[in-house]
Amino acid sequence: LANFKATNEPILQFLPGSQERKDVEAAVANFQSAQTDIPIVIGDEEIRTNQVKYQVSPFDHQKQIAKYHYADGNLIQKAIDVSLKARHDWERAPFEKRAEVFLKAADMIAKERRGEVLASTMLGQGKNLIQAEIDSGPELIDFLRFDVEYALELMKYQPISEGSIHNSMVYRGMEGFWAAVSPFNFTAIGGHLTSAPALMGNVVQWKPSDTAMLSSYTVYKIYREAGLPAGIINFLPSDGPVFGDAITASPDLAGINFTGSVRTFRHLWKQVANNLENYRSFPRLIGECGGKNFHFVHKSADVDSVVMGTIRSAFEYGGQKCSACSRAYIPQSMWPEVKQKLVNIQKEIKLGSALDADTFLSAVIDDKSFDRIKGYLNHAKSSDNLEIVAGGNCDDSKGYYVEPTIIETKDPQDTIMQQEIFGPVLTVYPYPDDEYKSVMNLVNTTSPFGLTGSVFAKDQAIIDEVHDTLIQAAGNFYINDKSTGSVVGQQPFGGARNSGTNDKAGGPHYLLRFLSPQAVKESK
Ligand code: GLU
Repeated sequence: LANFKATNEPILQFLPGSQERKDVEAAVANFQSAQTDIPIVIGDEEIRTNQVKYQVSPFDHQKQIAKYHYADGNLIQKAIDVSLKARHDWERAPFEKRAEVFLKAADMIAKERRGEVLASTMLGQGKNLIQAEIDSGPELIDFLRFDVEYALELMKYQPISEGSIHNSMVYRGMEGFWAAVSPFNFTAIGGHLTSAPALMGNVVQWKPSDTAMLSSYTVYKIYREAGLPAGIINFLPSDGPVFGDAITASPDLAGINFTGSVRTFRHLWKQVANNLENYRSFPRLIGECGGKNFHFVHKSADVDSVVMGTIRSAFEYGGQKCSACSRAYIPQSMWPEVKQKLVNIQKEIKLGSALDADTFLSAVIDDKSFDRIKGYLNHAKSSDNLEIVAGGNCDDSKGYYVEPTIIETKDPQDTIMQQEIFGPVLTVYPYPDDEYKSVMNLVNTTSPFGLTGSVFAKDQAIIDEVHDTLIQAAGNFYINDKSTGSVVGQQPFGGARNSGTNDKAGGPHYLLRFLSPQAVKESK
């Protein structure tokens, strides 16, 4: 294992009749044949409470695909106690033992369990097959494998020893427990928020997203079947505030690994601050909190790459990637052509069930999302500064469907250019060609976020200038490419400003956050 090198798992094509396609179809049919009853899992115990909830398919909200149970504060405390007992042996286990578990899980997902993970993501989160594949196939598999390589590399460092003095660094996890709070939009993120601290020798309390319960549980079961001992990660569906109160009240909180909204992350951070005197250690907080990602286009750009990149970034998975482009700045001279091409493609986009082979875009995740996005569409309809050039309709009678929508704005500072929408809504500001310098500064200052962004230009001097101006505006910066689709091991992911702590998941530095090394000096 010492020289283990990860490579990116290939994305499968799922051609009709292929084995991988049959596997997914069989897994979808299997999930549909009976509602999955998902327990709370604490140690080896499966617990079902009378606080019962249901997960529905976003594209068919009368279909309940899973039933699950909420843990209350007492059960969360019990989970903490159980894992604190389990951590002694886990922390001391050789790294190879821990790595074996997650490498085995990666192999299981890559092969015999891929269909199941994909199907649970399609049914529960409304991803079409290829989006489900990208997320819960290669991305999750890559996280698990690359982390092992990175950890081995990281732990190679040993300090110098001289004469009769022997120095060493002992790599340990942290005392206490980590909490992981995961979002609905990537199955891989929940899998990784939990696997990374566990790999480094920590124990984890996992609160999965209510709207990703089936896929989260599927991944959790695979971890356990791959050999993850009881109590190292506990599976704790629960009400957000109840979970937050319980973990932040515990003196043993070592850290929170969070992906979700800015508001929740701030709230958790304040709770930690309010309880600071009571913790054994200073809890570490890792947050990834969304974005208001831009495509900044210069007049030297290639029109077709702007068009395709923008369609894909804004509308794949309904704009429900933290990295999705939702504001584009396009030179006025180029706008008529770009607009025409965007609108033509928008008309071709098929909105429908995530299970249909030709669906590009399915429903958004739930009623709350639907209402929020509808609010932005209504704002666009009633504002003089905004004109809807394509889409604009939504319908939640069967599923939470929102048309891919393109809006043109006269005001680059409209709220629609500032706030995260998390839906298939793109707003374009056509700017006077030679004002690109001031517009570039607007890109930098309009939104409080700093996650992803792209520049499209052929002129290298322009690219360099934009890059320099926007150095803090995007943790993931793309040149002549869309702002989504970071690949583990290639573009470590994360942003600063209101987008989070920029700890770069999918890169080597991330893992440092979960270590509490001990330096040992021995006089011989
Ligand atoms: N890493 C994903 C991407 O680059 C986005 C992850 C997220 O939505 O949090 O598209």
